[in-house]
Amino acid sequence: MAAGEEEGQAVEPEAAVEEPRSFKDLGVTDVLCEACDQLGWKVPTKIQVEAIPVALQGRDIIGLAETGSGKTGAFALPILQALLETPQRLFALVLTPTRELAFQISEQFEALGSSIGVHTTVIVGGIDTMSQSLALAKKPHVIIATPGRLVDHLENTKGFNLRALKFLVMDEADRILNMDFETEVDKILKVIPRDRKTFLFSATMTKKVQKLQRAALKNPVKCAVSSKYQTVEKLQQYYIFIPSKFKDSYLVYILNELAGNSFMIFCSTCNNTQRTALLLRNLGFTAIPLHGQMSQNKRLGALNKFKAKARSILLATDVASRGLDIPHVDVVINFDIPTHSKDYIHRVGRTARAGRSGKSITFVTQYDVELFQRIEHLIGKKLPAFPMQEEEVMMLTERVAEAQRFARMELREQGEKKRSRNDDDDTEEAIGVRNKVAGGKKKKRKAF
Ligand code: AMP
Repeated sequence: MAAGEEEGQAVEPEAAVEEPRSFKDLGVTDVLCEACDQLGWKVPTKIQVEAIPVALQGRDIIGLAETGSGKTGAFALPILQALLETPQRLFALVLTPTRELAFQISEQFEALGSSIGVHTTVIVGGIDTMSQSLALAKKPHVIIATPGRLVDHLENTKGFNLRALKFLVMDEADRILNMDFETEVDKILKVIPRDRKTFLFSATMTKKVQKLQRAALKNPVKCAVSSKYQTVEKLQQYYIFIPSKFKDSYLVYILNELAGNSFMIFCSTCNNTQRTALLLRNLGFTAIPLHGQMSQNKRLGALNKFKAKARSILLATDVASRGLDIPHVDVVINFDIPTHSKDYIHRVGRTARAGRSGKSITFVTQYDVELFQRIEHLIGKKLPAFPMQEEEVMMLTERVAEAQRFARMELREQGEKKRSRNDDDDTEEAIGVRNKVAGGKKKKRKAF
């Protein structure tokens, strides 16, 4: 063991690599290089350049990588390569904080491993346990799970155990721990072999993550691709300073100005997300909400419609602000300023991903000045104002006010219906039905 390489203490890789190289140069085997090529991954990203060679050497990794850095590929490729060398069922476990992330990780494993016949299973809450038990009985190669539901299966599903596991990945470890999954993670660590490889990925290095690192990793190599809380280079960040009562009109103005782009709009509450989605749809925009009061199926449905580009505007609460794999977001709008400034970094991380460029626009009202100053302080720069024609915004106010009235009415109706049916029909299907009822009058407003 070299000096400074104490058990559980991360060391920097020996030489940082500057130039992007090919996956083959990193030691990735031909069949997986072809898979990367088919996904359009021409050159490895920075985290992949740093992590893949060390992972292939069989070292544990602590990876500090920004959202959209390609970290899933950084851990999936070495795991798939090891699986090719020694095929085995129940080979790897990936722990991740949210259901959406779990499905995205599974998609990447399946896409990269399709030609080698890899089987993955997603084990998350909100989905029938029986069908999950059946899937586990088939012994997949890779399990992608949220900690709570996995512990449930470890304790209650007959015949299921992870005693042969070779790889453990803890993805977004800071978030797993912030969501109070500590006990579950401890339980999982106790029932998997100590003799395994572990990759711990986290956006931030918190005290809790350090503690987990000491408990779970052996002699890890640290792979960091950006310093703490940096926003990506190709991101143009703006703010607009406006009176709170005109927020909706300014939003509509910006959506018109930047028409043709895909948008992700962040709101502070489920209710405001729903209201704003209704408002925009009343004005003819293809907007779709995604928030925690929607069922898992509806959340996935909304996300898929947005991914398939059937909808150009996704409105979300912070539930959706991290980890979601939405590659084509051109513009992030912070309609409600984040109360925790770190959330700003995660939100704007939805655009300018994997080398693309992107824009973010943060709405700052008379009530948000202090929060905005904190964000500027955190990212270490002053943001420019987004250029606007105030008179044009004011010309929109009447039509926006009418759409607001409709939205309020629809929201009330939805609430009443929900109470009477105890249903959660709160997504765009419901909105669509109401819009059809309202008829051609709204179609005309599409001229916006
Ligand atoms: P991740 O940070 O793992 O969520 O990845 C973010 C996005 O980058 C995903 O859509 C990946 O498909 C994509 N991606 C990962 N690696 C590469 C690469 N080497 N070149 C281009 N895109 C990539």
